[in-house]
Amino acid sequence: MLMELLMALAVVAAIVALAFYRASIRSWLLALVVLVPVAGIVYSISADVMQVILGMVAAIVVVMGVPFLRRKLVSYPVLMIFRRILPQLSPTEQEALDAGTVWWDGELFSGNPDWYKLIHLPKPMLSDEEEYFLEHEVEELCAMVNDWEVTHVRQDLPPEAWQYLKDKGFFGMIIPRQYGGLGFSALAHSAVVTKLASRSSTLSVTAMVPNSLGPAELLLHYGTQQQKEQYLPRLAKGLEIPCFALTGPFAGSDAGAIPDYGIVCHGDYRGQRVLGIRLNWEKRYITLGPVATLLGLAFKLYDPDRLAGGETNRGITLALIPTDTPGVVIGRRHLPLNSAFLNGPTQGKDVFIPMDFIIGGAARIGEGWRMLMECLSAGRGISLPSSATGAGKLAARTCGAYARVRKQFKLPVGRFEGVEEALARIGGNLYMMDAARLMTTVGIDLGEKPSVISAIVKYHCTERGRLVANDAMDVHGGKGICLGPSNYLGRGYQAVPIGITVEGANILTRSMIIFGQGAIRSHPYVLKEIQAAHDTSNPKRALHDFDGAFFGHVGFTVSNAVRALLFGLSNGRGIAVPPVVNERYYQKLTRYSTAFALMADASMLVLGGSLKRREKISARLGDILSQLYLCSAALKRFEDDGRPEQDAPLLQWAMEDALHRIEEAFDGVLRNFPSRIAAWVLRRLIFPLGRNVAPPSDELGHKIATLMMQPAETRERLTAGMYLPKDKEDAVGALELALHSTLECEPLQARVEEARKARGMAKVRALEELGRIAEARDKGVLKVEEAALLERDYELRRKVIMVDDFAPEELAAGGGRR
Ligand SMILES: Cc1cc2nc3c(=O)[nH]c(=O)nc-3n(C[C@H](O)[C@H](O)[C@H](O)COP(=O)(O)OP(=O)(O)OC[C@H]3O[C@@H](n4cnc5c(N)ncnc54)[C@H](O)[C@@H]3O)c2cc1C
Repeated sequence: MLMELLMALAVVAAIVALAFYRASIRSWLLALVVLVPVAGIVYSISADVMQVILGMVAAIVVVMGVPFLRRKLVSYPVLMIFRRILPQLSPTEQEALDAGTVWWDGELFSGNPDWYKLIHLPKPMLSDEEEYFLEHEVEELCAMVNDWEVTHVRQDLPPEAWQYLKDKGFFGMIIPRQYGGLGFSALAHSAVVTKLASRSSTLSVTAMVPNSLGPAELLLHYGTQQQKEQYLPRLAKGLEIPCFALTGPFAGSDAGAIPDYGIVCHGDYRGQRVLGIRLNWEKRYITLGPVATLLGLAFKLYDPDRLAGGETNRGITLALIPTDTPGVVIGRRHLPLNSAFLNGPTQGKDVFIPMDFIIGGAARIGEGWRMLMECLSAGRGISLPSSATGAGKLAARTCGAYARVRKQFKLPVGRFEGVEEALARIGGNLYMMDAARLMTTVGIDLGEKPSVISAIVKYHCTERGRLVANDAMDVHGGKGICLGPSNYLGRGYQAVPIGITVEGANILTRSMIIFGQGAIRSHPYVLKEIQAAHDTSNPKRALHDFDGAFFGHVGFTVSNAVRALLFGLSNGRGIAVPPVVNERYYQKLTRYSTAFALMADASMLVLGGSLKRREKISARLGDILSQLYLCSAALKRFEDDGRPEQDAPLLQWAMEDALHRIEEAFDGVLRNFPSRIAAWVLRRLIFPLGRNVAPPSDELGHKIATLMMQPAETRERLTAGMYLPKDKEDAVGALELALHSTLECEPLQARVEEARKARGMAKVRALEELGRIAEARDKGVLKVEEAALLERDYELRRKVIMVDDFAPEELAAGGGRR
């Protein structure tokens, strides 16, 4: 009996070990060859039965162990089924999938992230020159811009800010020095946008767009040498104002469906008859469109007479068109939620351009969609994550100060637990956003074009930015709502949906892109399987590749099932991670990465091609992947910052919140999974002992709120890189001064209060605070200089607390000047 039990245990242990260590087919077969005869002896199986079993084992060993036979008898039929059920991808979907590179997302999909790799990624470091630019040019530009004046009075940046942007090379941050640009790293580019966004969204969008997906980026990657030389130096110096027009009234999220078209034909250009394209377009929402001198245009190219050679239907093509070309219409403006960056429609009717206006020349005809997707892979990881983070820094800094300065019920409002909750969310979310922004720029600077990760950071920084903006408004009460020069939050709050909508609207990004693209791009085997299935030109190679990918995939899934169960039972304890602080977080992330890999495979297996339409499942799977990425970034940030003990509450909040969200997302997938049997099995494997991550505690929230309400290193690190006006006439500058003053004056306030009670000083009402200060000075409770400090403190607090009011005529259309 004992021997039989031991044998059973040995078999289970062997299966678990082989699966856990992702053993090769050979190792599995070897185990089979050894264990089956031994089991036959231990369980005293009769010779006849044993003969049959051994015959079967031999057949399995031969079929599975001889690659030729395995491919013919197993992989080939599977490949045929695979080809039948494989969802058809449209060319635009295929190009989106092909674009960009797989980076840390690949590790997260592997179920076993290499944390050494994460820790050894370079620390984000600006060059001296980049630092200088941020401390001088960017600082000076921010000082030039008053957001109220921009958004209410002018509906535009002041002319001197426009000139400064051009003169100092802000429009050429990504253009290499050889073309007269600043040649900045992704980190520096992001730092500039972050700082500008903490001052004015109009300013940051204006500077950001020429450096994002647009003419410069496209020319750099695909332009002909002549195009580069013609345009890049002019773009770098702001002599050309670029825009890029893809979106139109009938093609928004489904941008591949643009109806705008061009017909190849002969026409007159500058007095000469040349081969060219006659274009018709109607575009909208085009940033910088109203003032652009150089219009990047996406359109579908047709060549009915085959004048350019090749097919008649040539696909999406991109061209650069000077806006003074006859027929180009620009100039009218949209008004995107009171932001004043220039945005508007453009139309063109029968506009004739020569062929060499095509970006990259005739060789790039029809490659437009791929070019756009490739550029988006990097740019999307910088622009909106940075602007959302910049706005978040402004919100966090001002909320902490305001919650300390503003008193109600005789206490700073930030001391009330309800407000503490909001402050903690602001701090925790911002910590995560900044970490994700920084880690992504590291990847881009390493040469990655992380298509899936850029979608993750775009979505999550803008969504968390929305949470931060909402909380910031609540913390400020009426002060956040009444617009005017004293309001530093309202315009940013209004602008939140812009970041949510552009560069891939967020619902679509979450529901379709993150997991949809990730499952194919970042999964270790799926893309290989698909490529093999699509490879009909060389059947032998296709079968060979499919065999490797398919059996790798099977081993991967079996391994993840076993690992998910073991890790679920130990909650990740015992998983080997590098010798770092917070090792439990790394272990838990490995646990959830394994569970995610299993869940992803199960979803693809059960739902197949219909997963594309099951957006709610796909979105939740994307949430898990996203939170795993954000957590990795937070841990990396903590290491890069030198593991500051004071910041530990922020890291803890960010991690607990994200881990909790991961469990929520798993639970959501499992509750809604179409196959209830599969859901039952998966839940037992992933949560064998139930869910166990609680959201951040109240006590933790209290610590964060306290950190945010006092000038301290943590507050500085959290808001590092934002613009901080030093001028007390500036609303943010005054608030900073008021915070310091409040803390400095608290003991004096307490002394006056004590004296008022003890010495029977005349009772004064709150409105007469200045009278009380004077009385305390006259009665010797305060020295003259102390009274002066309190008077200044009163003035500063009053300035902070007051909101703007206007004569009705000032608010009438066109009467905005103040
Ligand atoms: C201020 C601003 C600046 C812009 N700048 C430019 C620019 O410079 N150049 C340019 O070409 N474009 C620009 N755009 C366009 C921007 O990229 C598009 O607005 C965006 O792609 C979405 O298109 P749409 O607004 O028409 O929304 P729709 O496509 O109408 O989408 C509406 C909603 O449906 C959701 N949705 C759509 N399809 C799906 C799906 N399959 N699954 C789930 N959800 C889905 C979207 O997420 C969105 O929430 C700008 C837009 C704005 C508002």
